Amino acid sequence: MTDGKNVLLAAPRGYCAGVDRAVETVEKALEKYGAPIYVRKQIVHNRYVVESLAKRGVIFVEEASEAPEGAHLVFSAHGISPAVRNQAQERKQLTLDATCPLVTKVHKEAQRFERDGYHILLVGHEGHEEVEGTAGEAPDVTHLVDGVDGVDKLPDYLQDEKLIWLSQTTLSVDETVVIVNKLRERFPHLENPPSDDICYATQNRQESVKAIAPKCDLMIVVGSKNSSNSVRLVEVALEAGARDSHLVDFAAEIDESWLDGVETVGVTCGASVPELLVREVLEYLDDRGFNDVEQVTTSTESITFALPRDLRPART
Ligand code: SF4
Repeated sequence: MTDGKNVLLAAPRGYCAGVDRAVETVEKALEKYGAPIYVRKQIVHNRYVVESLAKRGVIFVEEASEAPEGAHLVFSAHGISPAVRNQAQERKQLTLDATCPLVTKVHKEAQRFERDGYHILLVGHEGHEEVEGTAGEAPDVTHLVDGVDGVDKLPDYLQDEKLIWLSQTTLSVDETVVIVNKLRERFPHLENPPSDDICYATQNRQESVKAIAPKCDLMIVVGSKNSSNSVRLVEVALEAGARDSHLVDFAAEIDESWLDGVETVGVTCGASVPELLVREVLEYLDDRGFNDVEQVTTSTESITFALPRDLRPART
């Protein structure tokens, strides 16, 4: 150890099974069909990933209407509403769905609870693509609850109106508990979803940050500002006792002054961040005397998801 300076590296961190599948979907589509491949929205919320794919011939569009008729169009990991799927169908686009299966699971829950006559209280962040996609499955009965304050904005549901809560997959686990408790105070007959909507990757990355945060003077989270799960990691780090925490896309965004008087730096990254960006942060820290790196592993992950059917290797 040099001058007591050290790094605690959180694990698990980085790519989850859904991001891995989504990025591979675009790469395999490029291989199979050639450029250009169109992607609706950012395939995953990471600047480096999006810029790298754009250089290889991927064209990112906001809506299916911006891609030509008949084009190959990939739907991003965050999922789409049925209206978006219909729009692509009308334009005869050849679609590949990179929606994470754990997001699809929440969509199916929304469909089912609408069929069964429920009002759905969807805990999530207004304007996030995943929330728009999930709400789009049952728009007439879904009500967004954005933060604790969102609970007060809900209408008064009667005792005989069936109520269930669902959530975005990338929320803070602890904040969601607070929101759901407040929902239940207001609506004691509120029912729980059959299983967690906050996905395993979000939960594991938050747990690993909590394990090291109390020892960290500074926690550097690698991730993009529009990445919900990355932003949550900064919040979780601060709540769990890190003295300071910042989100950076690249090592070059680290401000030297953050390291003033710092002995222990925690490092982690969001679920859409390639490991090479973490390596660059570790090199940056190494150059400044933070040579002692200890990885702290709180869980291991082995989940993988199959590619969309059209991109799977042919069976022999
Ligand atoms: S963060 Fe979770 S829900 Fe989102 S892509 Fe990864 S595994 Fe799927």
